[in-house]
Amino acid sequence: MEKKYKEFPGVHWVPAPEDFISIEKDLCNGCAACLKVCLANCFELKNGKAKIKSLEKCMECSSCWYICPTEAINFTYPAGGTGFKTNFG
Ligand code: SF4
Ligand code: SF4
Repeated sequence: MEKKYKEFPGVHWVPAPEDFISIEKDLCNGCAACLKVCLANCFELKNGKAKIKSLEKCMECSSCWYICPTEAINFTYPAGGTGFKTNFG
């Protein structure tokens, strides 16, 4: 079922069946760059390592993957028909 959020007008999400972004713990140095760059607040730090909090509002921008200095983030897209959608095509 579609979800919408007041803070992000003009877009909606269809929940993905599984997490499409993952973090390789061993590679993460806890720099928090992914937390700072993510507008959707998808990450948190636990015991000095990044962790996915929720991908519910992920906009599939791949900024987290791009900014991670240690290549600890694996980024893929959610299954077809799910994830981020705009109302404008
Ligand atoms: S940007 Fe990469 S190294 Fe830094 S906290 Fe996030 S996952 Fe870890
Ligand atoms: S792809 Fe973009 S919105 Fe999704 S978790 Fe990464 S930085 Fe956040």
